Amino acid sequence: MTAKCRHIQETLLRDYREGGLPAPEHETVTEHLSACDACAREEEQMTAMLALLHTALPRHEPKLDLWAEFAPKMAEVRAEERLGVLARLRLRAARFWGNVALGAILFTQAVALNTTARFHKYLLVDPFLVPAEENF
Ligand SMILES: [Zn+2]
Repeated sequence: MTAKCRHIQETLLRDYREGGLPAPEHETVTEHLSACDACAREEEQMTAMLALLHTALPRHEPKLDLWAEFAPKMAEVRAEERLGVLARLRLRAARFWGNVALGAILFTQAVALNTTARFHKYLLVDPFLVPAEENF
């Protein structure tokens, strides 16, 4: 394998297959492929492999359907816009008190965690566990 063959097989051939080479280089590769058996064989194998990849194997592309997530929220907003003023105010008030309740729950949790951490040092010895000789 000459240096030119190596260069063609390792770097140019893939772009050649996909039509991504500039015209002069494309022509050079075409000429070389008609003259060199090794490179022609490599090109055939690459073609066969690509054909196999494109047809025989199933595609597992991730599906990202943003519309499926977005559409219900849009419908919700539109439904809210169609409500009367009073109903809309009631809905917003309910949402507000829901947020307040959630905040209160989170605040209580934070205080409880903080208190537990602060008083943990006093609970290293169980105060209700009285040694036997102090019973008298
Ligand atoms: Zn060659």
